[in-house]
Amino acid sequence: MVIIMLGAPGTGKGTVAGILQEKLGIKQVSTGDIFRKAIKEKTPLGNEVAGYMEKGLLVPDEVVIKVVDERLNQPDLENGVILDGFPRTKEQAIKLEKMLAKNNKKVDMAINLITPEEEIIERISNRRVCTNQECKAVFNVTMNPPKQDGICDKCGSALIQRKDDTKETIKNRLKAYYETSEPIVEFYKEKNVLYSSEVSTKINKLAEDVAKEVVEIIKK
Ligand code: AMP
Repeated sequence: MVIIMLGAPGTGKGTVAGILQEKLGIKQVSTGDIFRKAIKEKTPLGNEVAGYMEKGLLVPDEVVIKVVDERLNQPDLENGVILDGFPRTKEQAIKLEKMLAKNNKKVDMAINLITPEEEIIERISNRRVCTNQECKAVFNVTMNPPKQDGICDKCGSALIQRKDDTKETIKNRLKAYYETSEPIVEFYKEKNVLYSSEVSTKINKLAEDVAKEVVEIIKK
């Protein structure tokens, strides 16, 4: 099964994908995480993408597509994948169709999360993420703070603020989303695989609630 996560930064894509990974036994692959790891390890890919990420700009299509193509061909994804952060452009969406078709696969479900912009900005600027890649827990210093400052409740690793979670960078990331990524929602709607849901404290609906709904739909 192939699931993709759509939605602006800070809507809870990573949280939903993490829960689905656990409940459905399909691996979550986040292009943002792949790039952050490459930057940390100072690999040629990391050097290539660092500048874009720091400014909150999209990494060029050809770079992202190559990374995803290689990752999709690894044996641990044979049974399926939850793509978190890819595709983000029409070009990437079209290439993904082709990459999957080579293995007789297709996107089975595109989960689109919608959150009011002021809530996104609040969430991202107060977001703290676990540095342990196996855990990846997310906290919010005002809404959902860790019990001990800077320490992950789940695994005890250090929490950090992502370098691109600053007010200035968030503006660029939202602009990239509205201009380039949002139009691909229509692409999946036309393919009849779109599942859209609002995630907002205003309606008391969290990413966890969406994940639960999706699991119920898939297991039916
Ligand atoms: P994320 O962790 O999904 O918020 O991604 C963080 C950053 O990684 C983005 O702001 C982009 O700079 C880059 N990135 C991740 N996925 C993609 C993608 N599919 N296309 C272009 N850039 C991406």
